[in-house]
Amino acid sequence: MIARVTLELNLRKEFDYFIPEELAGQVDVGSRVQVPFGVRKVLGCVTAVAEESEHVKLKPILKVIGAQTLVTPAVLKLARWIGQYYCCSPEAALKSVLPEAVRHEQAGWREQLFVRTVPLTGELPKLSKRQTDIWNIIEERRALPLKELLKLAETTASTVRRLEDRGLVAVVSEIAERDPNAHEHILPTQPLAMSPEQAAALAAITASIDADEKVGQKPPSRTFLLHGVTGSGKTEVYLQAIAHTLEQNKGAIVLVPEIALTPQTVERFKARFSSGPLQTLVAVLHSHLSAGERHDEWHKIRQGRARIAIGARSAIFAPVQPLGLVIVDEEHESSYKQEETPRYHARDVAIVRGQMEGATVVLGSATPSLESFYNCSKKKYALLQLPRRADEKKLPFVRIVDMRQTLRKGKAIPILSPQLSEAISKRLDRSEQTILFLNRRGYSTALQCPLCGYVAGCPNCSLSLTYHRQEQQLRCHICGHSAPVPKVCPERSCNNPGIRYSGLGTQKVEETLRNFFPHAQIARMDSDTLKKKEDYRRILGDFRTAKIDVLLGTQMIAKGLHFPNVTLVGIIYADLALHQPDFRAGERTFQLLTQVAGRAGRGDVEGEVIVQAFTPFHPAIQYARRHDFAGFYEQEIEFRQQLKYPPISRIALLTLKGRNEEKVKFSAEHLKRELEKNLADFRDLILAGPAPAPLLKAETFYRHQIMLRTVRMSALSERLGKVTQALKFADDISLVVDIDPTALS
Ligand code: ADP
Ligand code: ZN
Repeated sequence: MIARVTLELNLRKEFDYFIPEELAGQVDVGSRVQVPFGVRKVLGCVTAVAEESEHVKLKPILKVIGAQTLVTPAVLKLARWIGQYYCCSPEAALKSVLPEAVRHEQAGWREQLFVRTVPLTGELPKLSKRQTDIWNIIEERRALPLKELLKLAETTASTVRRLEDRGLVAVVSEIAERDPNAHEHILPTQPLAMSPEQAAALAAITASIDADEKVGQKPPSRTFLLHGVTGSGKTEVYLQAIAHTLEQNKGAIVLVPEIALTPQTVERFKARFSSGPLQTLVAVLHSHLSAGERHDEWHKIRQGRARIAIGARSAIFAPVQPLGLVIVDEEHESSYKQEETPRYHARDVAIVRGQMEGATVVLGSATPSLESFYNCSKKKYALLQLPRRADEKKLPFVRIVDMRQTLRKGKAIPILSPQLSEAISKRLDRSEQTILFLNRRGYSTALQCPLCGYVAGCPNCSLSLTYHRQEQQLRCHICGHSAPVPKVCPERSCNNPGIRYSGLGTQKVEETLRNFFPHAQIARMDSDTLKKKEDYRRILGDFRTAKIDVLLGTQMIAKGLHFPNVTLVGIIYADLALHQPDFRAGERTFQLLTQVAGRAGRGDVEGEVIVQAFTPFHPAIQYARRHDFAGFYEQEIEFRQQLKYPPISRIALLTLKGRNEEKVKFSAEHLKRELEKNLADFRDLILAGPAPAPLLKAETFYRHQIMLRTVRMSALSERLGKVTQALKFADDISLVVDIDPTALS
């Protein structure tokens, strides 16, 4: 027998090896193996097993990794699709479907010495006082790790061994699972009685889980978009849908954004399935686990002991089988997109996996992506809605403060408007808590006048121009349009000479806050202050126990946190997200404002949200104020339609990177000509660029981009894969192909 193997080398080729006698029966499709390649030993994955090969003189497989095949046939098929659709090598795609800790298996299972009692025959022999103490501990616990016993009894291993010699206890080596949450005590929860809307959503989902595919018929659409306002009880729907899946003897995958993967979230799932007839383990997969923990969690799923896998992006590859249900919570989150090869989008992979395995897929969000809502309007997905909060709590009142008014009164750019600082004072007086939010991402890439709100935009693309400070140039990174930076604001009624000088970060805001409220406890939470995951937990813990009055932070505090005592949420500058040079800037701002606003008023007191903005009448801000997703969608989809942006079309973004700008530019021009030549027959293709990327020089690399748009992305990416592979660029120039990019920078 021979095995076809994809090696972990980017060769875009598979190789045949023979299966030696001693490994017969251990090698199957999906096995991870070690094989000789030249003088090296290389790891790879078996993609096929056959009787014979067309090659002669095959080398043998050296070693099989793991007792079970690691890549299930379903996941192998998914990896093939990823390689093709996202234009990357099959090797790179395959590599991403297994966690590092499982691929190399260095961590392996951890063996540990356990001490356990053995059945006594007759009376307990006479023991010393010391020995009795030790024996009592073991007796009470029946079995415990030796290490723990030594600590508890303050004794040494040789003392314990003496008890073993006397036949009273056994010291044995056993596999100790590294359970990252071993010390949690979780109280089981029961299903809640559902609102009519929740019940209707659940009924549609369970009907899909139960529906059989009819031979010869187009399979039913099993993708749902669950659109429910924050706090509408989406999670309860997920939980009961999972319960139904387990009843059918199938498993489920739950995807949540990395930042929402808090102990709080995971606990809700564990609590429901920790006991009762449907009891199963819930395995958690995410980047904060140690290699050993990740290894163990993954194998719990592979062995079928855990039938629910919950995790961030890469958990979509969890070897749950048979798979009945996939949930993608906060489906609009851009962190589902992997920003390195393979550049897959976990939501889209989830839908493809669902189709391949006949599983139902539920996308959930309070602020769905335009893509998903558009797919509902095209009847590709079924729309389920939860328009009210589950606990009858009102959505918070949102007030917009026009910062241009505040500015005229003072001199420096204001950070706190009188309205916001007054609202904070009130909370301090009443011992209620405040969250302040500052979105720093994308800051200072656009040129905005702080006096009138004017933003420099591209006349061709309706995007903000990128402000390149060093060259004092404004540039569009889609079409290449460029313009000098104006000396005064071009708005005729404004002419502010201070247009070029604006700047602000969380640190500055923190300083200002401390000056305004010297007696308040203020904490800042952003990527600068959080070096460790403990910091994150500590600050949130302090906030929960009311040791902190005002929590100031970036994106990371916008999601999934539940604090009943927070009655005020302030957004320092709503515009910062609005003027990124990206057609999704409006959508992101709307999502962010709605999500952040959802943090207020989760307790008994009604919440208030204050949004400070320099462009207060922008539709993204106004619709968010009214919690009006449908209204926002209507006007936004029109804008996308006019300019043929997604979801009307799909985008492939090609970026050339290199240290020498002239060379990068030259290669980009060359690539453009090749694309025009090779894709001339591709109808509906729109080609734009090359143009410098918004962050032209990122990490010492110059970057130029070409953007392609089409409605037929599968067809295009297949052609693109061929065209780009055939091209040769200079050694120091690299090409990145990004299909369906979420960020245009
Ligand atoms: P979402 O996931 O949509 O933000 P959650 O599932 O977190 O909403 O629900 C918000 C709150 O409402 C939670 O405290 C939850 O326990 C509660 N809840 C959800 N469904 C119900 C229900 N049917 N009856 C009573 N309370 C509910
Ligand atoms: Zn342009």
